[in-house]
Amino acid sequence: MSSKSYIVVTGGAGYIGSHTVVELIYHGYNVIAIDNLCNSSYEAIARIEFLVRKSVLFYNIDLRDEKQLSHIFSSYNVQGVLHFSALKAVGESTKIPLDYYDNNIYGSITLLRVMNKHNIKTIVFSSSATVYGDATRFENMIPIPENCPNEPTNPYGKTKYVIENLIKDLQKSDPTWRGAILRYFNPIGAHPSGLIGEDPLNVPNNLLPFLAQVAIGRREKLYVFGNDYESHDGTPIRDYIHVVDLAKGHIAALEYMNSLESDVGLYREWNLGTGKGSTVFDIVNAFSQASGKELPYEIVGRRDGDVLNLTADPSRAKKELNWIATMTVEQACRDLWKWTTENPFGFRVDNYHWKVFNKSQTVDYKNRLHTVKFPDLQVSFANYGALIQDVQYKGQPLVVGFQEFQAYTSDSNPLFGSTVGRYANRISNGSFQIEGKTYELDKNQSGSTLHGGNNAYNRQYFLGPVSKHYQDYNTLEFILLDEDGNNGFPAEVETLVKYTVNNNSIEIEYQSSITENSPNDATAISLTNHSYWNLSSNKTIDGTVFRLASDKYLKTDPKTQLPSGEIISSNEPLTKSVKLSPDVSFDNCFVVDESDFSLDTRKRELKQIAEVSHPSNSIKLSVTSTDPAFQFYTGDNISMDPIKPRAGFCVEAGRYVNAINHASWSKQVLVHKGEVYGSKLKFTFS
Ligand code: NAD
Repeated sequence: MSSKSYIVVTGGAGYIGSHTVVELIYHGYNVIAIDNLCNSSYEAIARIEFLVRKSVLFYNIDLRDEKQLSHIFSSYNVQGVLHFSALKAVGESTKIPLDYYDNNIYGSITLLRVMNKHNIKTIVFSSSATVYGDATRFENMIPIPENCPNEPTNPYGKTKYVIENLIKDLQKSDPTWRGAILRYFNPIGAHPSGLIGEDPLNVPNNLLPFLAQVAIGRREKLYVFGNDYESHDGTPIRDYIHVVDLAKGHIAALEYMNSLESDVGLYREWNLGTGKGSTVFDIVNAFSQASGKELPYEIVGRRDGDVLNLTADPSRAKKELNWIATMTVEQACRDLWKWTTENPFGFRVDNYHWKVFNKSQTVDYKNRLHTVKFPDLQVSFANYGALIQDVQYKGQPLVVGFQEFQAYTSDSNPLFGSTVGRYANRISNGSFQIEGKTYELDKNQSGSTLHGGNNAYNRQYFLGPVSKHYQDYNTLEFILLDEDGNNGFPAEVETLVKYTVNNNSIEIEYQSSITENSPNDATAISLTNHSYWNLSSNKTIDGTVFRLASDKYLKTDPKTQLPSGEIISSNEPLTKSVKLSPDVSFDNCFVVDESDFSLDTRKRELKQIAEVSHPSNSIKLSVTSTDPAFQFYTGDNISMDPIKPRAGFCVEAGRYVNAINHASWSKQVLVHKGEVYGSKLKFTFS
């Protein structure tokens, strides 16, 4: 068992759970998220990882599976549990109460039993204001204090009531237990990043998700249940709390429990609300403002069980947990609108699916294969190296790749499809200087550093992807945090690789910079993609016809392939069609721009650098880029049985080879904190 301690979050892929996982990580906790995904999607976890730039342990298990749950508690040093997982739809709970009791109560009993067995006795439980029932039945109970008697009116609320009492009785039986019962009022909004939010798989039960679907055009209008209450506009008053505030309430509860003397137990309820009520129309107006849309609604009769006002008294949480809600309803509406417009169907993304790449027995989420499919073009990408594993245009495979993940990890893999970084191509003597300081790198090719060294980007798992569908294209964004000192490179670097795929092209955008927390302030960055293309169905590229954008290339030493600094012209004109035959080989860096050495080239127009075809079919590949150079390589050194030399060619758009060691070229690749390296590269098929 590792000594690292963890917080287990049940229901960690759900709406509130996912936001709380983010806050836990921001507060320095290590997290194990557990979810059976019955009302959520793994995408939420992938998005959390993308957001916090860290991997999150995730287990797809049902909480009622005692054996599997116990296995997790035996494998890790668990410090405490935040228990979110539950079925939560009030209406549904009246129709299938057995399922609610079974899932919520039996799930909680299983969890508590496993915790007890492993001597983990700290739990934060997601309860609900529903346990109070109709608090207006009493005088002086609005705003609702924690000591308001409980009388839940539906099976869902009753499960919460039972679980609260389960924890209470357990704590009585063993006073070393610590149970924090958090009674939420109405959680709303989404993460301000727009990356995670509520993703109701069915008709939304709550006001704001419903309004969001009206605003985006998925539903015709909002039904307002009664406008004859005694509020300022006749609609009922509720206490709406931003989900990020709510998430922070859990950290406060956890820290409160952790601050207790070691032998002190606890059972305590806290309301998490704002203490400020808003009517249905207040919310409709706030959301209209945020979305800039008039939202159609219809007033219908009162709903059974609805009452005028259910606002929290949150003073106990303020006093004891030092927690208050700080975000406004307006902010929540803006965040929800961002989430909705950027993810109109929540985590469901058209034209996209993923599967686990390596076929190990346990699902390895960090290693997935993502496929984007249009009628003519299908492309698959892996988290490993953010690589392109497969490209099929009109049914024809166009790149060399492996079906088996393991092959990508082989030392003989010539970086098929990979993202190449932190530094593509060669660095002479595996060293460079920045401001007088010399950095020694991994030397992995005849005394030089090639493609970033031994543990370069092609050997790391990128986080994400954030996958999105737009009208006629899809995007996948992967991110990598490359450690300071990895392969000898100074500075911690964050690199974003964004793929945009439509029916006939793949665009790649790179963005890379030194993180704020990096101990070093400058480094060298040069990024490209290493796909090996083959437009024929032959095992060799011979016969391929190509035309390059330039005849000029960097003169290199034939032994080391390092540039002298001179730019020379090819004897044969490569800007006219050339046919590849076994005696025509290339591994040269062609120059398309000799003057603009911007670090971020993304604002420049994509210029064509190569056009390729093969007489055996009518498919044409056009490669365009914003970069000043590209390496054209005919794959002569491939040696990975059964794949033979010249099975594919590469067009690696990028910066000049070894630019970091040439005073007049280094600004192409030398990155200081605060600066951004960027480029674009596109493969178009016709
Ligand atoms: P959610 O449905 O988004 O999240 C609950 C998660 O638990 C889901 O991801 C679901 O897949 C998972 N889950 C359910 N049963 C499971 C099981 N047996 N094993 C493993 N995973 C399981 O709901 P949410 O809005 O994030 O709510 C989280 C908690 O907060 C719930 O306990 C809910 O009752 C409580 N709560 C929610 C609200 C609200 O308005 N959202 C209000 C008060 C209390």
